[in-house]
Amino acid sequence: MSQILGTFSATNYAFTATAPAQNWIGGEWAKASSGASIDVLNPRHGKAMSAAPMSAAQDVDRAVTAAAAALPEWKQWPMRERAQVLYRLRALMEGEREALAWLIAHENGKIYAQALAEVDKAIECVEFGCALPNMAAGAQLDVSRGVNCQLSHEPLGVVAGVTPFNFPLMVPLWMLPQALVGGNCFVLKPSEQVPLSMVRLAELLAEAGLPSGVFNLVHGGKPTVEALCDHPGISAFAFVGSTAVARSVYGRACATGKRALCLGGAKNHLIVVPDADVELTAENVVASFTGCSGQRCMAAANLVAVGDVDHIIAAIAERAAKLVPGVDHGAVTNAGSIERINGYIERAEQGGAKVLVDGRAKRGEEAGGYWVGATILDNVGADTPAAKDEIFGPVLSIVRVPNLEAAIALENSSPYGNASSIYTTSGHVAREVMGRVEAGMCGVNIGVPVPREPFGFGGWNDSAFGHGNITGWDGFRFWTRPRKVTSKWALQKDQTWMS
Ligand code: NAD
Repeated sequence: MSQILGTFSATNYAFTATAPAQNWIGGEWAKASSGASIDVLNPRHGKAMSAAPMSAAQDVDRAVTAAAAALPEWKQWPMRERAQVLYRLRALMEGEREALAWLIAHENGKIYAQALAEVDKAIECVEFGCALPNMAAGAQLDVSRGVNCQLSHEPLGVVAGVTPFNFPLMVPLWMLPQALVGGNCFVLKPSEQVPLSMVRLAELLAEAGLPSGVFNLVHGGKPTVEALCDHPGISAFAFVGSTAVARSVYGRACATGKRALCLGGAKNHLIVVPDADVELTAENVVASFTGCSGQRCMAAANLVAVGDVDHIIAAIAERAAKLVPGVDHGAVTNAGSIERINGYIERAEQGGAKVLVDGRAKRGEEAGGYWVGATILDNVGADTPAAKDEIFGPVLSIVRVPNLEAAIALENSSPYGNASSIYTTSGHVAREVMGRVEAGMCGVNIGVPVPREPFGFGGWNDSAFGHGNITGWDGFRFWTRPRKVTSKWALQKDQTWMS
């Protein structure tokens, strides 16, 4: 399948060794300068399947230098030709859709079906990039007699992105299509927990005809990210990860004059009212809080139960109790995650919450690995950590409120603002809630209201720092700058041959 990943060609969850990941700089694989690395664990087994080099500032500098060298030629390519690379990338990704999904399932721990869904969503992001030349024709207008003003979208130069562990393929592809079609050269630092999908993507981009140096991959952790924030040769910086880091790197990147957009964490509220459809709500809520083991910034976190919805909660609990870890959802990312998630469950229980469904002792078939099963906590106090913090695991906290006003107030008391959903059969109730909640991505009877392309992905408040969405047209605007050319061509005195 891949030069660097060696013989990796999984067709099942069995442990498969791969070669250590390397940086991809100027069209070549490169070892990081320090030689330090961390193991990449397969969360289903907990065994090392690869290693990620921990790059230092000088590795970042090498990548930026390679990107800067490729820039003058790349930005001369007509946008349509740049987009042709993405058409070819799309075909290559379609061609190895299943292998890419297995690679994600191995490094991330999610089940194959959910990894396949990630690949399909990533392909959709590439398709948006393919379509950009058709959308990006700038406006022009005769602004006064004989004077024309014309708008074009120009590249920013060398730009950078940093991505989280939970969507190793899709989140980088939230950034790359718009940035590359926009004429920029890119330096990407994926999560050190899941570096392999990007290793394969580097190979696929090269196969698709992307010139050397236009896409560069630098693996590493905090020091690598800080070097990207500080590097004077980078003009724009995008980040997706937890709120604490998003806030800090946003400030750091802006301090060196970069354009920055940093997406953070979430605590998504699902409001359920008594008139909600029982089956639809139960199926939807369970899929939302357990999909990808709750490790999604769009996952259900709090179920806000308005009035008497016990019959709906019973249906949710019945479904959730039947889920089989390893079959219906995957493992969580590492040992620290188990400790964090179980810690929240234990503290909630000690604080008086009732554990309706307990996933603490559940695990997948494999020996080792990091497992937490679906867990539902009822009667969680609104001011307790289980209701306020991002748990990032398959845990649903039920907070009881007497009426819709209290539900909206609870939702809006959260500092986060990623997603919010209402379950109801009343259009009036849906409109009321959707008009008032503090969230950028809202759902009516939908638990994971991801705006598909071309609608932009992005939350509000502490879920995003910077302006606009990261995908869709906003993404293209983020990675480009508008140029306006105003021209006037007067008749020359000696042009007597005009008439
Ligand atoms: P994380 O913040 O720990 O790491 C994200 C990236 O930042 C990684 O590449 C990591 O190497 C780097 N990093 C980690 N600590 C750093 C530090 N102190 N300084 C600089 N860089 C640092 O996030 P994660 O655990 O990989 O991913 C889960 C988080 O991402 C959750 O909070 C989730 O909600 C969030 N997320 C948000 C979105 C969104 O669109 N808003 C999408 C996916 C994930």
